[in-house]
Amino acid sequence: MPKSIVKNSHHIGRFAPSPTGRMHLGNVYAALMSWLFARASGGLWLLRIEDLDPERSRQEYADALMSDLEWLGLEWDGTPLYQSQRTDIYRHYFEQLTQQGLVYPCFCTRADILATQAPHQSDNRVVYSGACRGLTYDQIRQRMAERKPSWRLMMPDAESSYVDAIYGPQRCNLKRDCGDIVIRRADGAFAYQLAVSVDDALSGVTQVVRGRDLILSAHQQIAICGMLSLKPPEYAHVPLLINENAQRLSKRDNSLNIGVLREKFSPQQLIGILAYKTGLKDDCEPVTPQELIKTFNTCSIKPKDILMTI
Ligand code: GLU
Repeated sequence: MPKSIVKNSHHIGRFAPSPTGRMHLGNVYAALMSWLFARASGGLWLLRIEDLDPERSRQEYADALMSDLEWLGLEWDGTPLYQSQRTDIYRHYFEQLTQQGLVYPCFCTRADILATQAPHQSDNRVVYSGACRGLTYDQIRQRMAERKPSWRLMMPDAESSYVDAIYGPQRCNLKRDCGDIVIRRADGAFAYQLAVSVDDALSGVTQVVRGRDLILSAHQQIAICGMLSLKPPEYAHVPLLINENAQRLSKRDNSLNIGVLREKFSPQQLIGILAYKTGLKDDCEPVTPQELIKTFNTCSIKPKDILMTI
């Protein structure tokens, strides 16, 4: 994307899917909301393909994602960014954090981490105990000979707070609630939190709209931007779509997979149903995303997960 476009636009949103499968209706909802926030304020909407994990990401899923967004009428600006092509940029920022003394090698296996983690909230989040934080130079040298480490970022024992555009004031303690996070995996791949923080800031993203399961990630991304003197975006987390078992929709809810839905509905029909069920519209008549802009009102979005059946 030419730099001048970025400079002249006041609102820049983005959609950042991981190409690890076909979208389900929950992903479509997140994309639609992010698109609406950006377009309703006359802003740009960027597309970033988060294909950092070489084992799980596939170009065919990235192609399907773009075809599905086009089919839905969610057009993006500029050329999509591929995280897999931005390794040198992540390395630069990784080195900057390392030079500040904020990064250390971690030799723990997944089993070690599970065994030493402090009991935590009801979710399945794993908060690292910091076991490798205090290793001496000799211990590190010795362990390096045995296995390749992952690289963790030290999170300060400090409060983080921000105001979410939908979920309101958010607080956490970075050390207790997030712990020292992996920013580079043992196989050399840079990890999600570092890449997303850097990419959003460098693309000039002003507002991130995505599912509320990433609220805790916002705290980590704001912290990383602070350490790198980058400007973090604002955040609007949207409710999750859940199934009858109160679980968030996943690739397992096959009937709500975009491939299946494309066989049954026109894009306008599908957007109409989604808009009705999520409270964006009072009826379920077919509609285009463009038409939804006129009545889009962020105050009508309730911070409550939405049961979705079609
Ligand atoms: N790539 C992430 C996902 O597909 C989303 C990251 C983000 O929006 O920050 O779940």
